Amino acid sequence: METCRAAVITEHNKPLTIEQVPIPKLDQGSLLVKITASTLCGTDVHRWHGPLGDEDSLPIITGHEPCGYVEDIAGERTDILGNPVQRGDRIVWSYVACGSCYYCAVALQPCICPGRASWGHNRSDQHPFLLGSCAEYMYVPKECLIIKVPEDVTSASAAASACAYRTVMHGFDRLGAIKSHETVVIQGSGPLGNFATAVAKDHGAKKVLVIGAPANRLEVTKRMGADGVLNLEEVTDEKHRRNWVRDHTDGRGADVVIQVANNLAVPEGLTLLRGGGRYLNIAAGGKANIAVERIPQEMLFITIRSAEPRHWLQAIDFLASRRKSFPFEEMISKSYKLEQINEAMAAMASYSVVKAVINFN
Ligand SMILES: [Zn+2]
Ligand SMILES: [Zn+2]
Repeated sequence: METCRAAVITEHNKPLTIEQVPIPKLDQGSLLVKITASTLCGTDVHRWHGPLGDEDSLPIITGHEPCGYVEDIAGERTDILGNPVQRGDRIVWSYVACGSCYYCAVALQPCICPGRASWGHNRSDQHPFLLGSCAEYMYVPKECLIIKVPEDVTSASAAASACAYRTVMHGFDRLGAIKSHETVVIQGSGPLGNFATAVAKDHGAKKVLVIGAPANRLEVTKRMGADGVLNLEEVTDEKHRRNWVRDHTDGRGADVVIQVANNLAVPEGLTLLRGGGRYLNIAAGGKANIAVERIPQEMLFITIRSAEPRHWLQAIDFLASRRKSFPFEEMISKSYKLEQINEAMAAMASYSVVKAVINFN
């Protein structure tokens, strides 16, 4: 059996190792993709530190944000828009929901399908082996929807659209229209926060205010169009942060608050929201006791998990069509080779980069 190189977590909190992993034989409708870029995500770091669920068992190939070239296809495939997919096409591809459970078929909420397949936590010693993105090749199951990447979107940005950016698009989809008089506050200045800043500006918010850290990430936030940023490390008193938002909103609080840090930020976030506002909780995976003194009256609370296939397309479209308005490439702070995976993971863990990318060329 042929093999390829992959960055494997064999033990939690121990350095990842570069291993040879089998390249599986393709079954009908599946694809083999030669990875060109894999961006890293906070989730990869969390998973390296310990299992995120019962199904996380080692060894796993880290990474779930791939972009690559079609190396081989078993049979005929079309992309999400119905165009034929060919060898050599540069693509990203969606996660797979089962399509037949209560969440998929009745509730139409496929992102919480219990049988949903996703990447970056699958055993690398079991068929089909290559379901993590920090590897020279990935296996694409036949159920995945395929999105072609236009020429003017870089592979690194396309890779980031496979998790961070499409999740943000899902959030804005559920949030609905932002009115031109509305102020949006974003909690968090990582890749999700910075991308959300661009989308909120693009969708017509009057003002976008971002509370985050560290300073290097907030510099990027400003260039993504934020009207104001507040450094959590400098303004450590929650009361002062609340006053900052009130000062910007005639004392009312924000019309929309978007949480993209972690659930611990929710209690503070609710104090930044005006009565009747909308709270969009995107980074909702982490555990937290959410104790609040008061819930804003008539507010709407929306939580987001992952995304549906069309949000992958929306993210790629946004990167292509708004590339002159926003410096997306600045969110990809640093490029590493596969052999430097431990350096890249450490950079993500310390927040010294907005996003790290493993480049394979
Ligand atoms: Zn992710
Ligand atoms: Zn399902």
